[in-house]
Amino acid sequence: MNYEVRQLGKDTWMIRSMMVQMFLIAGTEKAMLIDTGAGMGNLKAQVEKLTDKPLIVVNTHGHVDHAGGNFQFKEVWMHADDFSAADWMCTLSERQEYVRSRLAVFAPEQTQEAVDSLQPCVDYEKKALTEGQVFDLGDRELEVIFTPGHTHGSVCFLDRRYRRIFTGDTVNYGMLLQKSYECTALSVYVESLKKLLARGGEFDTVLRCHGEPVGTKGDIQIVMGMVQRIISGEVSGEHFVNPMRDCWNYNFGQKYSVSYDGPDAEL
Ligand SMILES: [Zn+2]
Repeated sequence: MNYEVRQLGKDTWMIRSMMVQMFLIAGTEKAMLIDTGAGMGNLKAQVEKLTDKPLIVVNTHGHVDHAGGNFQFKEVWMHADDFSAADWMCTLSERQEYVRSRLAVFAPEQTQEAVDSLQPCVDYEKKALTEGQVFDLGDRELEVIFTPGHTHGSVCFLDRRYRRIFTGDTVNYGMLLQKSYECTALSVYVESLKKLLARGGEFDTVLRCHGEPVGTKGDIQIVMGMVQRIISGEVSGEHFVNPMRDCWNYNFGQKYSVSYDGPDAEL
């Protein structure tokens, strides 16, 4: 299992595995790993190739493609509201299903080998993040900002010194906002985006976990506009049903989309 590693600036790396981006940030004293992917390969060994600083591991949220590799570490910080998601969504069978469904699309010949290579989970300690908590890495600090929406326990990490914010799945091209995936009502999500924009004077760059990793705070505005148009009823979506999902999709140009439970859902 090879990871794709891209340096994004001083002591900051993107580590990509299976269409999801994790981020590693090193300070003079400590390093921080943001998310752990689906638990393919040896992420811990990959991190140790990039930094020898004592490592803090955090999750932006509890979905399988972000918390699925938590078991490779002794302790992981996340929002307490996503503790249960990080358990039921990240079992070996859920991780196998995730890897199978993703590889079936873009690398079907690798699917069985990749699924067979997944290691069973082992227990690790979950530590609860608090709003405004600051992780001091030495010469840089990361602040926790709670942003419920994509999940109840979604959080962002603000690196004020380098004017970057790590947004997990809170700001993506394709926004998943279905309650069966632990997402909140759309109105809760909009409040979180407003909260991020209110802090917009403190960052220029948005770092996403899916698609092109480097974005701008303009992306927050775009996503908020899309969701507000759904809430106001200005746009219509398409009902989409398959054995795995029952949702409504709203497309906004070629790049952006929102899926949620549909017009009858609590907004
Ligand atoms: Zn997610």
